Amino acid sequence: MQVYEAPIRDMRFVLEELHNDDGFGDVEGFEDFDSDVTTAILEEAGKLCKEVLLPINWSGDQEGCKLENGTVSTPKGFQDAYRQFCEGGWAGLGVAEEWGGQNAPHALGKMVEEMTCSANLSFGLYPGLTNGAMVALEAHGSDELKQFYLPKMANGEWSGTMCLTESHCGTDLGMLRTKAEPQDDGSFLVTGNKIFISAGDHDLTSNIVHLVLARLPDAPAGVKGISMFLVPKYLPNADGEPGDHNKAGPTAIEHKMGLKASATCQMSFDGSKGWMVGEPNKGLEAMFTMMNTERVAVGIQGLGVGEIAYQSAVYYAKDRLQGRSLSGVKNPDGPADPIIVHPDVRRMLMTMRAYNEGCRALSAWVSRALDASHSAREPEARERATDFVALMTPVVKALFTDLGHESAQLAVQVYGGHGYIQESGVEQFARDARIAQIYEGTNGIQALDLVGRKLPHRMGRNLRSFFHPVSQFCEDHAADADIGKLVGSLQQSFGALQLSTGHIAQKGLKDPEEAAAAASDYLRLLGFVAMGYCFAKAAKVAHAKLAEGSSEEAFYKAKLTTAQFFFDRLLPVATAQFMAIKSGKASMMELPEDAF
Ligand SMILES: Cc1cc2nc3c(=O)[nH]c(=O)nc-3n(C[C@H](O)[C@H](O)[C@H](O)COP(=O)(O)OP(=O)(O)OC[C@H]3O[C@@H](n4cnc5c(N)ncnc54)[C@H](O)[C@@H]3O)c2cc1C
Repeated sequence: MQVYEAPIRDMRFVLEELHNDDGFGDVEGFEDFDSDVTTAILEEAGKLCKEVLLPINWSGDQEGCKLENGTVSTPKGFQDAYRQFCEGGWAGLGVAEEWGGQNAPHALGKMVEEMTCSANLSFGLYPGLTNGAMVALEAHGSDELKQFYLPKMANGEWSGTMCLTESHCGTDLGMLRTKAEPQDDGSFLVTGNKIFISAGDHDLTSNIVHLVLARLPDAPAGVKGISMFLVPKYLPNADGEPGDHNKAGPTAIEHKMGLKASATCQMSFDGSKGWMVGEPNKGLEAMFTMMNTERVAVGIQGLGVGEIAYQSAVYYAKDRLQGRSLSGVKNPDGPADPIIVHPDVRRMLMTMRAYNEGCRALSAWVSRALDASHSAREPEARERATDFVALMTPVVKALFTDLGHESAQLAVQVYGGHGYIQESGVEQFARDARIAQIYEGTNGIQALDLVGRKLPHRMGRNLRSFFHPVSQFCEDHAADADIGKLVGSLQQSFGALQLSTGHIAQKGLKDPEEAAAAASDYLRLLGFVAMGYCFAKAAKVAHAKLAEGSSEEAFYKAKLTTAQFFFDRLLPVATAQFMAIKSGKASMMELPEDAF
């Protein structure tokens, strides 16, 4: 049973109550999005997700996409849902007004993204990719390309893709072979084959705007010889309507483990007309604008799946009768008690709940920083926010998707054997969530990005944007009567993180393999400390609200219990990663290859 109600109260909590003291100061340009408007948007989005997207989640998984006569059709109901999505203005929620969007803050946009990914992850990919393509085009495209393409993408009439991967190269894009030949009119003819292209073709929009990485004839080898091109499926006429087919289309749909209603295509570009976006040989940098947006978005996918997995598991745990409670019968009129009475089932439910609340709180902090990085009034705050987003992007991508997948697996476990059966609907979550750990740069690559690039960047400036508020908070609240104990645990984990940072910096300087061997453990530890900081702050807010006699006692008490569970059960396990980090690379790298 797939059960979903948008967690609007918790979203409002992290948006309005938790991060008011984040130090980024005034963020300008979002004055229209006050509390009432924000709540109304969240409620409308929640309704769309529950009533339109959720009902076609499981059926979309069962039916999948089809490729016939060179075009892809999406499962039943997707076209209608996409029409409703666009009519509601959701495609342009975070897009600048200049292009016809609503210019909503990222902090709000990410909450709506979370809902979409909970209700229907496959569906969420179509507008998600368009969003990322728009960000890259806005940052690097010529004025002419922007004027022509962005308004139609902002209203959802046209969609976008990112075409990087080829059969012989995914992580190592320096090897890519697709070519782009310059033409006299300033355009390029793009030729090559791509694989694994999300939303590569479909029937939701009248045109598809592919952003393709390719090489110019005289390009240097490796990543320094990659340029980016905009290649539309249909060449637009002078009046902006789709005209001739551009010989850019799907040759096959990949047969995947999950995410079956998202069309992942093998694509052929056969002398397809395109235009360069950004500068020659700087395509990978330009694509990184899109990939950084997408990496945070993929992290949110993990959270989205984690939330629906949790809600579906709670529903079942209250309904399924097995065994009796160890503390005395709870359902005397029934043949057994509901399984939610059992501590082991509670362990799973509380773990999922804490992961979701922790990730949501951290995502709100990162999204506020994303907004502040563009729009904080003070230049110093903009810089600090930029540093923080840079540090946290790989953490959000990798940690949220790992935890989202773990939650999906726990939901299957809560359902027992029924969870393994398709009709339960929950095994779909585990299959769907799995890809988020792989695409947009695998989670292993995110960890390398964190330790190899983000930590040393400008002598540790990124890290300071995070360490400073955490250490200040610990100092200020160590003796706090309400949260002092939690802060003590946070300090311990933070200490382990600081030692780990020093260890990696020292050993990694002499031997980069040492830093690489520690990277994934380090990312997890950093992410858990960040969530711990958010939980400690949440506990502080909750205590204050309860003390002033808030009418939402149940909400704030539950927040305290979840925070306590996180500190009791989850943070100590993450803190132990320090032991793994300290152990170094030896036992990992010692075996000769032929011993495997
Ligand atoms: C459903 C789906 C949708 C996708 N959508 C898109 C899309 O829209 N556009 C697009 O361009 N691509 C897309 N991809 C491709 C995806 O981004 C790649 O699969 C991913 O980046 C990994 O590349 P790869 O599969 O070639 O794995 P490889 O690069 O071969 O990696 C294999 C393993 O080796 C590890 N590894 C590789 N290099 C290193 C290293 N230097 N250090 C440590 N470990 C390393 C990886 O972490 C991984 O575990 C999609 C893939 C799937 C399955």
